[in-house]
Amino acid sequence: MVSNREPYLHAFDTDGRVGWSPTTGGVSVALDSLMRERGGVWIAHGAGDADREVVDEADRVRVPPDLPAYTLRRIWLTETEERRYYEGFANEGLWPLCHVAHVKPVFRAADWRAYQAINRRFAEAVAAELPDDGAPVFIQDYHLTLVARYLRESHPETPIALFWHIPFPHPDKFRICPYRREILEGLAATDLLAFQLERDRRNFVAASRAELGAKASRSRVHLNHRSTSVCAVPIGVDFDRIRSVTRDPGLDTEMARLRRELRIETPRIGIGVDRLDYTKGIPERLNALDCLFTRWPNLRDELTFVQIAVPSRSKLESYAAVAADIDRRVAELNVKHGRGPTDGPIRYRTAALRVRRLVALYRLADFCLVSSLHDGMNLVAKEFVAAREDLGGVLVLSELAGAAQELHDAVIINPYDVESFADGLELALGMSEEETHRRMRVLRRVVAGRDVFRWASDILEGLEDPTTWPPGPR
Ligand code: UDP
Repeated sequence: MVSNREPYLHAFDTDGRVGWSPTTGGVSVALDSLMRERGGVWIAHGAGDADREVVDEADRVRVPPDLPAYTLRRIWLTETEERRYYEGFANEGLWPLCHVAHVKPVFRAADWRAYQAINRRFAEAVAAELPDDGAPVFIQDYHLTLVARYLRESHPETPIALFWHIPFPHPDKFRICPYRREILEGLAATDLLAFQLERDRRNFVAASRAELGAKASRSRVHLNHRSTSVCAVPIGVDFDRIRSVTRDPGLDTEMARLRRELRIETPRIGIGVDRLDYTKGIPERLNALDCLFTRWPNLRDELTFVQIAVPSRSKLESYAAVAADIDRRVAELNVKHGRGPTDGPIRYRTAALRVRRLVALYRLADFCLVSSLHDGMNLVAKEFVAAREDLGGVLVLSELAGAAQELHDAVIINPYDVESFADGLELALGMSEEETHRRMRVLRRVVAGRDVFRWASDILEGLEDPTTWPPGPR
């Protein structure tokens, strides 16, 4: 497994002792489940300030730290390398390039050079860890588009797959990137390239034809005497793990504690759980809530909305700007619709929740709001469904999130249309128990049927035996 972000990081506490925590983000949460099940080596950037304290002489440590099941091999980056490769090229360049969220991508030559150098460093680490030529390599995401190409220099036969977690842009938008051809060539050096949606697969194939003159069919791209399978395999969640947390006898206590901590006194609760990112449509969500509370002033005695937004990439101006915007809007809304200056209907928290608390929050909610302006998939939507064995709770889901392609029984909204978004919230709040249960039952069938293990085995089996590709219904 190769990804930028590590699944666990080690950090010093205030007394100078080394502690550890799992990292936040759809990619790490899902893949950790997979690695715990299958074992192997995960190569990732060591970002914790105590990460070096716990590794052996080959920069390895066994994880999860409390129940070791696989090896984490850490890659070290200097501050400048991190700024250029990760914040710069990956997150100021490729991220806005691939999301339609109207933030202008920034490409700098120095960032690109760092991106190439770090991708080479990852490729060298993979080469060093490979037990033999037949061991499959599974690379994650847009941070590491060149690894396969560099690895091919020493390992022409190693089976390599890459999963692209975010949207892949239309060739007209992709053309903005000055380094697009190198990126496409890097991706085409894999044996199998998987995207979330058909749209992403189509865009990649079209870009390969237009930019590289590659020969391509619907499911294969041929370039430099190699051919790559290209397909759409939507990612899922660890359904069984989430369900087992919901069956934990301590969950009721956790829910009561959350209610107390969040000072929730209303009978109804809505939630939003996101990484703090301009693609997630959090300001748009607040606008829709503003519209709802304006339509129904008495609702403030009925409904509390809890927004968890975990800061990420906060050194980038585009992220700082959306964070400040959210702070301001939450304060305004709480004054406008509150019963007193400190008693508004929105609870806004920026601390990350671990899985047990997260599941408790999912279970408290009458509705969960996902209002992305553009999103590869959105795992929160699927986790919410996985947590609702009680069949309660309504998912309100943006049609611009990849998850909307599968979760048709959610209340589908458009975050750009504030009035109809508020109508969607009214629909969710007014939904009968029978209809809520009916919808949740269907959603659960979809989410359980395509969990993270099915996703991974579709990709890894396709890599190990291309004749089984593309996977059919089971
Ligand atoms: N998450 C978490 N704690 C939090 C907030 C989020 O563990 O306090 C996790 C959440 O469970 C989900 C992931 O972060 O698995 C977010 O994934 P998603 O696909 O929704 O968005 P991404 O961050 O990958 O863009």
